[in-house]
Amino acid sequence: MRHIAVVGSGPAGYYTAEAAAKRWSEAGVRIDIIDRLPVPFGLIRSGVAPDHQSIKAVSRRYEATNLTDNVRFVGGVTVGSDVTIDELSAVYDAIVLATGAPADRPIGIPGDELPHVIGSAAFVGWYNGHPDFADLDPPLSGTNAVVVGNGNVALDVARILAKTRAEFDGSDIAGHALDALEASAVRCISILGRRGPHQIAMTPKELGELGHLARAQPRVDAADLPPPADDAALDPGQRKSVHHLRDFAAAPPGEKPVTLDFDFLASPVAIHPDRVTVERTRLDGDRAVGTGETYDVPASLVVACIGYRTPSIPGVPYDERAGRFANTEGRIAPGLYCVGWARRGPSGTIGTNRPDGYAVVELIADDIGDGEGKPGRPALDALLAARGVEPVTFRDWQRIDAAEIARARPDSPREKFVRIEDMVAAARGA
Ligand code: NAP
Repeated sequence: MRHIAVVGSGPAGYYTAEAAAKRWSEAGVRIDIIDRLPVPFGLIRSGVAPDHQSIKAVSRRYEATNLTDNVRFVGGVTVGSDVTIDELSAVYDAIVLATGAPADRPIGIPGDELPHVIGSAAFVGWYNGHPDFADLDPPLSGTNAVVVGNGNVALDVARILAKTRAEFDGSDIAGHALDALEASAVRCISILGRRGPHQIAMTPKELGELGHLARAQPRVDAADLPPPADDAALDPGQRKSVHHLRDFAAAPPGEKPVTLDFDFLASPVAIHPDRVTVERTRLDGDRAVGTGETYDVPASLVVACIGYRTPSIPGVPYDERAGRFANTEGRIAPGLYCVGWARRGPSGTIGTNRPDGYAVVELIADDIGDGEGKPGRPALDALLAARGVEPVTFRDWQRIDAAEIARARPDSPREKFVRIEDMVAAARGA
């Protein structure tokens, strides 16, 4: 019997558990998926945009993984404080860190500590009802927002800021965010990209959505676009994205009250209480270099969507520069592995984590053989019981799930609990 602990219950964690459950028979492996929250699914619940429900549907697959006897959800347990890595090492044959990259990378320019400057992890966590960010209360009383970054998260943030209340029908946006966004005064959203239109990291489907918003219009200055013939050098997906930019540039001005202004070759250099100072850049090959020319963009809210870091865990080697665990192809130390964003950084789609999970299970299979010797689940349970930590089980989560569905707004699949204590109360059937 092999005993495997997977730390983190997002996509990377569940694909790892799925792979391990498939790799060994029911009698061959026991997998515990440990999460600090009492609710599973990580990025699917708290990162994927609430108006992208079809992407969230993948959690049904993770649920199926959890309904087998050899996979257990152990929620509400923080590795590093409730139980240490050394303690887990004594109990499990392999530990896989699938903790994602939930921390904002600091933008690192003067003024980034001002209260109206928010990282995308916090902003996305707020509208998705993550307990860490439920009280964020972003400033939405001014008219101008600046979104920094040209990736899919910047697109999510800009779109959420631009939508009407009715456009959230069918979404599971947190009620507090829906009310705040409905009352929002934001009318002008500038999206700053430090490089050019050909270098955006926005996928075509998501970018195309901006062209169909009820009250908001994307605006691209045609003069910012490279000559159309240059698009031939792009890969097909990127070419489609750039075509959307060309369509936005060609569209008549229109009368919609909210604008989404793409500002390319624009790198923020300082943030002030009411504006962002931006330096015009130019491309040197694929790299942005400053030109020395600066200008100001009004901003009552700044959301930095510039990537994420994996929080460190005491006792685990960490690569400070990359912002993730120090590892070689997923191996950190004997018996200790990482997978997904915690291994490779915050890139790729949800599905990218599937081969990652399967690959790490092959490493484990090579390393631990039949894994005899470690005590597994009962030893973790004894440790937690001695500390008064009562984990949330998958059955408990199903009670939380049912309670969230039962309290949903009429046009929403669920109203999430945003306080840990409310989640735990629902888990215990209170
Ligand atoms: P990302 O795709 O890496 O984009 C980050 C953006 O921030 C890039 O445009 C980058 O510019 C810019 N940036 C980084 N540092 C900067 C700085 N100091 N100043 C100005 N700009 C800076 O990351 P992401 O948007 O956070 O997304 C993370 C991953 O999740 C991606 O793989 C993304 O596709 C995925 N995702 C997918 C979906 C979806 O499919 N619907 C939704 C959300 C996220 P440079 O390119 O110049 O570095």
